[in-house]
Amino acid sequence: MNGQIYTAMLNTIVNAQPSVLVTLDAAGTISHIYMTERSQASLAFLIGKNFAKLLRLIFGLKTTKLLCHTINTCRLSQQQTTISQLKHITGKHLAEYFNCSFAPAPEQQVVVLFQKVTENVLFQEEFCSIAEQHETLNQDLCIAMANLDFQLMDLEQAHKKLSALYRITSIVQKTVNEKEVLEEIVVGITRELGFANAAIFLLDPTSQELVNKAHRGYYNDQVRIMVGQGIIGNAALSRELIYVPNTKLEPRYIPGTSNGFSEIAIPLIVGDQVIGVLDVEASEDHILKEYDLNLLRSLASQIAMTIAHASHVTKACVEASTDGLTNVYNYRHFRNIFNQEFKRATRYQRPLSLLMIDIDHFKHYNDLNGHLQGDDALKAVADLIRQHCRDTDFVFRYGGEEFVVLLPETIVTQAHIIAERIRQEIAGYPFQNGKAQPGGALTVSIGIAGYPNDAYSEMELIACADAALYSVKRADRNRSCLYSDQP
Ligand code: GH3
Ligand code: MG
Ligand code: MG
Repeated sequence: MNGQIYTAMLNTIVNAQPSVLVTLDAAGTISHIYMTERSQASLAFLIGKNFAKLLRLIFGLKTTKLLCHTINTCRLSQQQTTISQLKHITGKHLAEYFNCSFAPAPEQQVVVLFQKVTENVLFQEEFCSIAEQHETLNQDLCIAMANLDFQLMDLEQAHKKLSALYRITSIVQKTVNEKEVLEEIVVGITRELGFANAAIFLLDPTSQELVNKAHRGYYNDQVRIMVGQGIIGNAALSRELIYVPNTKLEPRYIPGTSNGFSEIAIPLIVGDQVIGVLDVEASEDHILKEYDLNLLRSLASQIAMTIAHASHVTKACVEASTDGLTNVYNYRHFRNIFNQEFKRATRYQRPLSLLMIDIDHFKHYNDLNGHLQGDDALKAVADLIRQHCRDTDFVFRYGGEEFVVLLPETIVTQAHIIAERIRQEIAGYPFQNGKAQPGGALTVSIGIAGYPNDAYSEMELIACADAALYSVKRADRNRSCLYSDQP
C-alpha cells in the first residue's frame, strides 16, 4: 500500500473528520501515519517510532496497555475492533475522547484509526492531567492540614505551659525568702509543668559542691554533688544545658529518683557566675519538645535572677535590722519582734520574758580608755550576751550601752537564771583595763520582767524591766533583779 491509497482510504472512512490513521509493522513500529489537515512532511518525525511508547505519552499507562492489548488481539485474530468493544473494559470511557478502530491490514500490518481527534479531545486530556495534579495537591494539602492540626495542638500545649511558667514566676517574684522561692519553683515544675521530679542545687563556693536546697521526687534531702560529677555537676562545669533523652543509656547518670526517664540539667547563672543547677526529670510517657527545653531555660534564668534578688533582699533586711557596731539586732527590729512575740504570747497564753541590760559606769570606762576602746568593750559585751543566750532568744541593742534580750516561752525564774549566767560571764571577762572600773571590773546590771507575771502590755513589760534595772542601779550594780523582787 502506498500513501495515496491510505489517504483515499482515510477520506472514505472518516469522511474528512479530524482523524488519524496509523500502520504498524510486526514489531509495533509506525510505518505510516496520516492525519487529516496535516501534511505528510509534518508527520514524518513519527515514522519509525514505537507506537506503544507514543500511546503511553499521549494516553497514559493504563489506556496504552489496553489499546496495545486490543491491537495485538486484533492482529492475531485478523478481526476489526471498534471502540464499542473497548468501552466496556475501560473505566475512562475512551469513546468520550475519541473513536478508535483497528483493522488487520494486508502484509500482516495493522492499521489503527483514531477518529474525532480534535483539540477538544486534547484539551480534555490536559484537563484530566491537571485534575490529577489537583488531586495530588489536594492530598498534600490534607496532609499539611493534618500537620497544622498537630502543630495547633502543640501550640495549645505550649500556651498552657507558658501560662504555668507565668504563674510560677509571678509567685516566685512575690516571694523574697530564698527557701520559699526554691520550694515554690520545684512544686510549680512538678505540679504545673507536669515533670516527674525537680530539684534545685545551689553551689557552695568553698567546697565546690552543689547542694540540694529544694526538691520533689528525689530520694535524698542531703544530696551534695561535686562540680563535674554526673549530669548535674557537668551542667555546672560546662555552663550549658544538658538534655539526656534516656538516662538508662547515659553513663554519667547518677540515679536519685524512681521514675526519671529523661533528664534536663540547666546551670543557674548570675552575671558570669554559676550559682547552681536546676535539675528536672520526665517520666517515660512525657515526650519532651524543643519548647519544653526553652521553657526550662527561661525558668532557669528567672530562678537565677530571683535567687540573686532574694539574697540581696535578705542581705538588705539583715543590714536594716542589725546594729552596725555590735552586730546584734537594732532598736527598730526590736519594735517589730517585740510586737510579734508579745502578740503570740498573749494569743496562746505563753510566757515571754525580757531582760534589760545596762553597762555599769560606762561613762567612766569611756573617759578612762577613750571612745574607741569603749566601742570594743561594747562589742565584747554584745558577743558575751549572745553567746550565753539560747538560739530561740533575741538580743537587741536598745540604746547607747543598753541591751534587751527577749526570751520567748520563758518564765521569769528561768530568765533570771539566764540573766545571772550573762552577768557573771561579763563580770569575769578580761576587758582591756577593766580592773580600773569602780568595783574592779567592767560589769552589767540586769532588770527582768515577764508576761504574764508582771505586765499585760508591751509598754508595761518594758517599764517593769526598766524599773527592775534601776532598782539595781540605785542600790548597787553588777546584779540582776526580778521586777517582782525589787525592794
Ligand atoms: P550607769 O552605771 O549608771 O549606767 O553609769 P553609766 O556611766 O553607764 O551611765 P549612763 O548609762 O547614763 O551612760 C551611758 C554612757 O555610755 C554614755 C556614753 O558615753 C556611753 N555610750 C553610749 N553609747 C556609746 C557608744 O556607742 N560607744 C561608746 N564608746 N560609748 C557609748
Ligand atoms: Mg545607760
Ligand atoms: Mg550604764
